[in-house]
Amino acid sequence: MGIRTILTLPNPLLRKVSLRAELPPSQWQSIIRDLWDTLDSHTGVGLAAPQIGESIRIIVVDATRAKRPVPHHGRMTLVNPVIIAKEGRISFREGCLSVPDYVAHIERAERILVEALNEHGDPCVFETQGFEAVIIQHEIDHLDGILFIDRIRHARDLKPRPTS
Ligand code: ZN
Repeated sequence: MGIRTILTLPNPLLRKVSLRAELPPSQWQSIIRDLWDTLDSHTGVGLAAPQIGESIRIIVVDATRAKRPVPHHGRMTLVNPVIIAKEGRISFREGCLSVPDYVAHIERAERILVEALNEHGDPCVFETQGFEAVIIQHEIDHLDGILFIDRIRHARDLKPRPTS
C-alpha cells in the first residue's frame, strides 16, 4: 500500500480507542511499513496507526527529524506502548498531521519510562525525556482517541499554524 491518506478531524476513527496488537508480529508488518512510508512523506516526527485508519495500538516515532537536534533513540516502532512511570512537566508547541491548521503549547511529563514491543514482537523498556518523550505521549494519546487540542487549558492557547 505504501503512503496512505492521513485522517483529519472530524473523522470519527480518530476518536476510537484502538485495540491491542496481538501476536504474531507478521500481521503488523504492512501497517508498520505504511506508517513509515506515510510519515516519511510528510514533515512530521510521529504517527499513530489510527491516523491511517487502523484501529490498532502501533505508533512510529522519529525524533531524528526534529528541527533542532535532540537526544533520541532513533527511528522507533512501538507496539502496545504503555507509560509505566513519568515525572516532571514540560511544555512544547505541538501540532498534528490530523489537525493540520492549528498548533498549541501543551504541558506533558518531561521524563517517561515506556514499555512496548518492537516491530519483531520483542519486549523493550526504555527511558526518554524532552522532545522524544513529548512525541511518544502525543502518539499514545492517539491510541486512546485523544488529540492535543483536548489538552489545551485555555481556548486562547490554540493558534493557527504559522505558514512557512
Ligand atoms: Zn497527532
